[in-house]
Amino acid sequence: AATTPVLPEVVEAMAPFWTEKFGNASSLHSWGREARVAVEEAREKVAGILNCEPEEIVFIGTTTTSDNLAILGVARAVQSQIGNQKDKREKLHLITSQIEHHSVLDTFKYLESQGFNVTYLPVDKYGVVNLEELEKAIRLETVLVSVMYANNEVGTIEPLSEVSAKCNPSTSPGTRVQSARFGTKIYVHTDAAAAAEYLDLDVQKLGVDLLSLGSHKFGGPKGVGILYVRKGTPISPLTFGGHHERSLWPGTEAVPLIVGMAKALEAGIKNQVLSIKRVTGLRDKLIKGVLDKIPDTVLTGHPEKRLPDIASFVFKGAEGEAILLRLDAEGIAASSGSACTSGDLKPSHVLLSMGIPAEEAHGSIRFSLGRGTTEEEIDYVLEVLPRVINDLRSLGKGI
Ligand SMILES: *Cc1c(COP(=O)(O)O)cnc(C)c1O
Repeated sequence: AATTPVLPEVVEAMAPFWTEKFGNASSLHSWGREARVAVEEAREKVAGILNCEPEEIVFIGTTTTSDNLAILGVARAVQSQIGNQKDKREKLHLITSQIEHHSVLDTFKYLESQGFNVTYLPVDKYGVVNLEELEKAIRLETVLVSVMYANNEVGTIEPLSEVSAKCNPSTSPGTRVQSARFGTKIYVHTDAAAAAEYLDLDVQKLGVDLLSLGSHKFGGPKGVGILYVRKGTPISPLTFGGHHERSLWPGTEAVPLIVGMAKALEAGIKNQVLSIKRVTGLRDKLIKGVLDKIPDTVLTGHPEKRLPDIASFVFKGAEGEAILLRLDAEGIAASSGSACTSGDLKPSHVLLSMGIPAEEAHGSIRFSLGRGTTEEEIDYVLEVLPRVINDLRSLGKGI
C-alpha cells in the first residue's frame, strides 16, 4: 500500500528512453518527435483505461501534486470566474471527507486558511462516507466535492458513483443539488491512488470530473502521476513556465517515467481479474488467521467492501510502533496508520474518525499484500505475529 516494486516489463519499456531515445518531447527534431510520440501513445493508453479522451489526461509529479492541482486548481478557477470579491470568496463552499490522505486534507486546510468554507464529512465505524451527511452539506455555494475512491489505511471502498450522483443534478434530478449561486456544476474529484491496482477506473461509470493516480502504487516508477480532468472543468495551474500538459503542469515531460507508468497500468489491467481473486484469497486467509489466533483483535475497515490488498487491525494492549519494529526484525514489513504519518505518534485520523478510541488506535497495524505475495509469506506472518503480540502484551502488563 505504501508502494510497489516496478514490474519487469515496465523496466524494459522504460529502458530505451534513458539513453538512445533521450529527446525532449518539445524539440522539433527527430529525437524530440520520437519522445513526443512515446508520451502521446502513453496518454492514449491511459485514456483508454480511464475511458476518457487523451486530452483529458495530465501527466504530473505524484498523487500528491495531482490532488493539489485538482483541488486548488478548481477552487481558484471558480473563484476567478466569479470575481475576487471577498464576500463571494467567503461563501465558496467545498466538501471532503475526514478520512482523506493528507495530500487532500492539508490542501483543504490551506484553502480554509484562505477564506474558503470547507465541510469534512464524517464516516461510519467501517470508514464509509455518510451519503446523507453529504446531501445535507451541499449548499447553493458548493463547487467541489473530493472523496477518495478507497482508503489507503483501512482499505474501505467508498460509494464514489453515489457521491457523484448526489452532486450532479442530471443523474439525480430529485435532489436539491446545484451550485446555483455561481452558475457552475458541483465538480467531483477523487484520490484513486489506493484503488488503482484492483478497482475499475472508468471515469464515466464513476461520474467524476477529476481523478488522481500515482504510478508507484500500481507497479510503475516513483515520481510520476496522472490527473484526469473532464472537458469543461475550470482549472487553474499552480506553477508557471511552459505549455506542457496544457499549461497545467509546465516543465519538460518525464518521458521514461510516463512510458513506464502507462505500461504498468496496462499490465495491471490485463491480469486484474486473476490478481484480484488471488490476492483477495490470501487477504482473507490472513484476516481469518489473525482473528482466530490473536484475542482482543479488531479488523478495521469494512468487512466486505474493502480493497483486495489491505488487512488492517487494532491489537488492544500492544503498541503499533513496537509491533512494527519486532516484525521488521523478523523480516516482515507492515505499517502503523499510514507510512506518511508513522514518523509522529499521533493516532491515525482515519481510525479516530471511525470512532476508534485514541488508546486503541495506537495499536493499529496495516498489512498490505501485493501481486507477488505468496501463501508461504502469509503462513509465516501467522506464525510470527501471535508470538509478537503476546510478548508485547505481557511486557505491557509487567510494567
Ligand atoms: C500514496 C497515496 C498518496 C500519495 O502518493 P505520493 O506518491 O506520495 O504523492 C495519496 N493518496 C493516497 C490515497 C495514497 O495511497
